[in-house]
Amino acid sequence: MLRQIPVARIRTAVETLLTEAAYRLPADYLASLEAAAPSEPSPIGQQVIELLLENSAYAQAEQIATCQDTGMAMLFLEVGQDVHFTGGAVNAAIQDGVRAAYTGLRKSVVGDPIRRANTGDNTPGLIHYEIVPGDRVAITALQKGFGAELMSRLQMFPPSVGVEGVIRFVIETVELAGPNACPPVIVGVGLGGSFNTVAHQAKKALLRPIGSLHPVPHLAELEADLLAAINRTGIGPQGLGGRITALAVHIEAQATHIAALPVAVNLNCSAPRRARVEI
Ligand code: SF4
Repeated sequence: MLRQIPVARIRTAVETLLTEAAYRLPADYLASLEAAAPSEPSPIGQQVIELLLENSAYAQAEQIATCQDTGMAMLFLEVGQDVHFTGGAVNAAIQDGVRAAYTGLRKSVVGDPIRRANTGDNTPGLIHYEIVPGDRVAITALQKGFGAELMSRLQMFPPSVGVEGVIRFVIETVELAGPNACPPVIVGVGLGGSFNTVAHQAKKALLRPIGSLHPVPHLAELEADLLAAINRTGIGPQGLGGRITALAVHIEAQATHIAALPVAVNLNCSAPRRARVEI
């Protein structure tokens, strides 16, 4: 039997998620930043981490945006196959939720990438659907700053580059980003699939809570090796030098063709706004 979900509920959920994400950073991110502080040898690096924590506490207490760039809204919906949306078009309801959430936030979206006129209400948000078993809908909202998005990269490698080539590419991406991605960063790595899906995998990797391990042991090991290597680059918090350049590396991997080893690296910044709800 199908479960009826009015699209008005989706609209309200999107508005609430994006409104709250703007001022409340995820608890797992704040805990990892706090835990990292004592292992930062650079006094400036330590000071930056303290300022980031202070800024976050202030934003939350005053309910004002953590960062002036309130980003582009990205919505990831896991839709149970036994769900029937009622009361209108779900895509339009999501865009209404985005529009309402951004009433008091900076509008950062241009409708035409060449002519570049601001849409004036931060729509459209980018929507991704995944059909899953059951009769629930889970929505994860990402309010993605584009300082870090701009520094993200994708490469269709031949398989001969091996794991060494993957490691080189990920570290090179973080080094090229330097201070521009507003470190400490979270590094989402997509592996396998095809040209379009590998970028999506890298983005999805940013949705994982910090501190969670990849379920496949050799990929969990690769995540740990990459994090250690990135934290030897010396970029440090906000690029001012130090050890804590990244707080986490998350990998999402997919089957791919025998001829290719696609790799995508999507960076998230020190304002990694993410929120989730299940309906
Ligand atoms: S990259 Fe992130 S922290 Fe830097 S300005 Fe943009 S939203 Fe703010």
